[in-house]
Amino acid sequence: MSDFTVTEAIAWLKASSDAIDKEAAHLSDLDAAIGDGDHGANMKRGFQAVVKKLDGAEPADLGALFKTVGMTLLSTVGGASGPLYGGFFLAVGKLGAGQASCDAAALAEMLKGGLADIVKRGKAEIGDKTMVDALTPALDAMQGDLAAATAAAAKAAREAATATAPLLAKKGRASYLGERSIGHQDPGANSAALLLETLAETCKG
Ligand code: ADP
Ligand code: MG
Repeated sequence: MSDFTVTEAIAWLKASSDAIDKEAAHLSDLDAAIGDGDHGANMKRGFQAVVKKLDGAEPADLGALFKTVGMTLLSTVGGASGPLYGGFFLAVGKLGAGQASCDAAALAEMLKGGLADIVKRGKAEIGDKTMVDALTPALDAMQGDLAAATAAAAKAAREAATATAPLLAKKGRASYLGERSIGHQDPGANSAALLLETLAETCKG
């Protein structure tokens, strides 16, 4: 696959909803350890709403598609992650405006624009034990064609999500636990890794 089209993007979002469905209990278990145990349910609700919204829709371009995704997540996910993932997809949509498809380098730039929005809103730095820890190395790893770039992103995100376990949480609910947040993986870093794994799965051609 050489280009990332609206069709691929929709396939990615549907696959993400399926993957989140399967992993919802695990994501909520991770959140129960250092938060309030709702991350899986939040993400499941949001992505189910996205799939429903996309059913029968024919978005004109990547911009229109990701704008719809962002708005839907903003209004359904809730918690800290709702505005962060919602804003992520809105920012991705802004960069995709007018584009029916894009190559791997442009996709990386769009996703980096989304990450920049998460950082702007949430003010998390790398090492604060959040989704930013998974997304940053993942998007930096996007080199080569679409299949290679997304596979590298998925691998980097998963490794980084696993590596959040020994960190002390400095943002969000988990930060209220202080030292007791140490020893558990961050739920948002895991959901971010899941999204990039389904992206790689979708783009492997
Ligand atoms: P809540 O914490 O409100 O219950 P969720 O459980 O859905 O919301 O999401 C928690 C996740 O959100 C965390 O695991 C973390 O990855 C992410 N998160 C929380 N605060 C921030 C922040 N300021 N910046 C980036 N990510 C954050
Ligand atoms: Mg929570």
